[in-house]
Amino acid sequence: MDRIISVTNLTKTYKNTPALKGISFNVKRGEIFGILGPNGAGKTTTLEIIEGLRVQTSGQCAVLGYDNISESAEIKKKIGVQLQSSKYFNHLSLAELLELFASLYGKKINPVEILKSFDLEGKAAATVKELSGGQKQRFTIATALAHNPEILFLDEPTTGLDPKARHDMWQLIKGLNRSGMTIIMTTHYMEEAEFLCHRLAILDNGQILKLDSPQSLIAEISKIYKISFFTEDKISPDFFAEFQPKKIVLEYPKAIVETENFAALPKILNKLQKEKIRYSFLNVKSATLEEVYLQLTGKEYEG
Ligand code: ADP
Repeated sequence: MDRIISVTNLTKTYKNTPALKGISFNVKRGEIFGILGPNGAGKTTTLEIIEGLRVQTSGQCAVLGYDNISESAEIKKKIGVQLQSSKYFNHLSLAELLELFASLYGKKINPVEILKSFDLEGKAAATVKELSGGQKQRFTIATALAHNPEILFLDEPTTGLDPKARHDMWQLIKGLNRSGMTIIMTTHYMEEAEFLCHRLAILDNGQILKLDSPQSLIAEISKIYKISFFTEDKISPDFFAEFQPKKIVLEYPKAIVETENFAALPKILNKLQKEKIRYSFLNVKSATLEEVYLQLTGKEYEG
């Protein structure tokens, strides 16, 4: 995969507030790259510098090989930026808005075709204020893509949505990415970061604390899977030996087995069933992104 965005030693100071203190990262073509961090971490500032909407205090940023300051006009043609839905003209229909956005880039489009892929075909004649929260968010992505850009920027795409609309949005984002769209997004939702992002930069106080895949970030703090259950049946440590556990605790009626081997989990359950050992309150636990975040930032996640 080639580098599509390249950020080097970026700093941004607003008056006397240092918002970014020298961050560097690359985004590869075809990935969903996430920036996760608390309010005030510098997420929006980072995106807006890359988008060519703000200018950094120092450092470099290149998008598709174009410099974000001297060649920002080129960048703007090739990126799609999700706007807040409140910023649309209220008297235009969805179809008219899409045509307007495409025409700003000199493109002609079929708005109904686009609305269809966002599950909004029945709303072509509606205005934005007639949409539900989830529909509004989907429409903001449709407008960002009306000129067929190469990179999509999403700033907290599911903030304020109910769980069903949030999950619909996740499917939409995954689908766009599967069809080849490179996506860079910010979020302060752990689950969202874990589910959507191929790689994740954890940003706090203007600095990247860690950058890796969610799986690797989690594995770095602990590779242990802990399976626990209650059983009234007799069970001996030998029962688990074939799974080469790291630790076994048998404190009647509770059994706890720890393993580094994810594949052992279903095998343990199979064996319990095959040998007709009755169990209840089954629980499987592993480290989470929330624990990673807490360990890195020293802050509880405020989701
Ligand atoms: P996030 O998106 O992670 O919430 P921001 O990038 O919006 O963070 O803000 C980072 C820091 O910069 C915060 O301390 C914020 O108050 C400050 N900041 C953001 N925009 C401005 C601005 N236009 N003028 C002054 N300070 C700003």
